[in-house]
Order: sequence, then structure tokens, then C-alpha cells
Amino acid sequence: MIYDVAIIGSGPAGMTAALYGMRAGMSVLLLEKAFPGGQMVSSHNIENYPGFHGISGAELAQAMKKQLTEIDYKTAEVVQMDLSGSIKLLTTKKETFQAKNVIIATGANPRKLGFSNEEKLTGRGVSYCATCDGAFYRNKTATVIGGGNTALEDALYLAKFCEQVNLVHRRTAFRGDQSTLNQIRANEKIKIYTEYIPVELVGEEQLSEVVLEHTETKDRLTLKTDGLFVAIGYQPNVSFLPEGILKSDFGEIITDKNMMTNLEDVYAIGDVRRKELRQIVTACSDGAEVISAIQRKVNL
Ligand code: NAP
Repeated sequence: MIYDVAIIGSGPAGMTAALYGMRAGMSVLLLEKAFPGGQMVSSHNIENYPGFHGISGAELAQAMKKQLTEIDYKTAEVVQMDLSGSIKLLTTKKETFQAKNVIIATGANPRKLGFSNEEKLTGRGVSYCATCDGAFYRNKTATVIGGGNTALEDALYLAKFCEQVNLVHRRTAFRGDQSTLNQIRANEKIKIYTEYIPVELVGEEQLSEVVLEHTETKDRLTLKTDGLFVAIGYQPNVSFLPEGILKSDFGEIITDKNMMTNLEDVYAIGDVRRKELRQIVTACSDGAEVISAIQRKVNL
């Protein structure tokens, strides 16, 4: 069988594309190497997805998956792809699938600090998304790690409702925009620690402190903090892709406004593509847009 659309990755972007494809009468294959939901599964309470005052990522993922009644959903990892011809070939460990259009929706993972207790404390003080989790730290102390635009914007965002925000960066020069940095420096709630790196996360069931070390003097400093927002970049999941797909310096897939990559009939949606705002709603939006673009192309 040749599918109209083969989607790789079943996060909110991939599942929305599958839903819209299904409802458009397309034959849809959705390939997922692990379980549905992607990054949102690790969010214990999502409060910024419209329609729910609060819902766990796992519940939202299950609800999205349940809607996909007329697609082929397979748990399989794509290990090889041939995207050169008009019929694309996607090979998993067991079989090869054929499709007219391929949608890459494999997401991205925030870069981790690398501490042995980091995973355990994730959702218990440690977060990788200020927009998602910031509101839990109202009138509390939050610490942001990083010196890029994400870290700077996170610090400003958190300062709106946190009592105090610490911004910790490993160098004196910041990668983020000067104008944002000026706003940070003018904000009395934000305290900047440059030339410091985190060396220990303290807390058993809940994060309570982060230990910093000066990069030159090696002096240590302990910051009491309720929340730690790690903003040290993203790693798009693109390692399995063949050569020839255009990417940014950060490894994000570059698409046009129709979500198409530089390869004909090969699309990228959600966090794996270069975009400004990585949220569940924007991932869903990409999923709807891509199917609309494919439909318009077919109807031409
Ligand atoms: P980024 O620009 O790659 O910055 C990552 C920051 O984390 C850098 O300051 C880096 O330090 C630091 N870092 C990396 N590994 C670290 C580690 N192990 N320990 C401590 N610090 C570490 O990432 P980003 O801020 O997520 O931004 C990604 C892209 O999206 C950028 O192009 C950014 O401009 C863009 N973006 C744009 C906007 C906007 O325009 N509104 C908003 C957000 C993001 P060094 O500087 O020393 O390398």
C-alpha cells in the first residue's frame, strides 16, 4: 500500500496532522518509536492548553491518541529513509513503508544539565519550560540557567510573578539579545550570576537548593530556590534523517510557510522545525497547517 501521508513521531504535532489527515480522507500512517505524546508526557500539569484548567500530559496524549480511529498507528522506529523519489520509503527494523508525503514530527528535547538526580527532580522543582511551569512558582524564588534568548526571556517572564529570579550564566557575555538583557538588568527582581555553573542539585523529593561554582575561582555558592529552569538549548531529534534536509546551525529543520522542507513532499512540524514558540498549541497548529498545505497541493 502507498499511504497518502506517513508521519514520524506522535507528539501533539504528529497526532494533530494524523487527525486532520484522517478527517480529510487521506490514508495516514503514524510511526512512533516509543509511546504517544512526546515531551508533554513528562508534564504533570498542563495549564496553558485551551479547554483544560489543568490536565496531565499523559492524559492529554491519551485523549489525542483516542481520536485517531481511522489511521494506521504503528510502534516502530524508522531507521532508514529514501526521500528522493515521488514515492518515499520509510524503513523500520521490521518492514518498509511507502508514502506520497512524509511529515517529520520527531520533536526536540531540551538539553539537560547532566546531573544524576536531574530526572528525578524534573517536575519537582526542575523544569525546562518557563512558559509551561512558571505559574507554579508565584511569589517564590526561581533560578534560570543559561545565557541565550530563552534564558533571558524566561527570567523576564518569571520575574512577573516570582518574588525573586536568579539568572545564572557560565560566561560574562550573553548570547541573548542586548535589548532583552537591558530589561533584565533594569529589573530589580532579577539577580545575575555570571561565570557560574551549577554543580549540584539539592533535594530528595523536591528541589531546595542549587550549588554553583565560579568558573575561574572555583568558589562555591548555594542558592535556595523553589524552581530551577534549565534553558541551555534544544536538541532537535534529527539524527536518523538522511543527508540533504536543510537545517539551522542548531539542527532545527528549516521549512517554508507550508511546513515543507527543501525536499519536495517532505514536511517538518512541531518542535523539530525552526520556530519561535515551542508549545503544545503551536505544535497542533503546525499539524493542521501541514495537512491543509498537502490538500491544497493535491487539489491544484
Ligand atoms: P542558545 O542560544 O543555544 O543558548 C544556550 C545557552 O545555554 C548559552 O548561553 C550557553 O552558554 C548555555 N549553555 C549551554 N550548555 C550549557 C551547560 N551545560 N551549562 C551551562 N550553560 C550552558 O539556546 P536558546 O536560548 O534556547 O536559543 C535557541 C535559539 O532560539 C537561538 O537562536 C535563540 O536566539 C532563539 N530564540 C529566540 C527567541 C526570540 O527571538 N524571541 C527566543 C528564544 C530563543 P554559552 O553562551 O557560553 O555557549
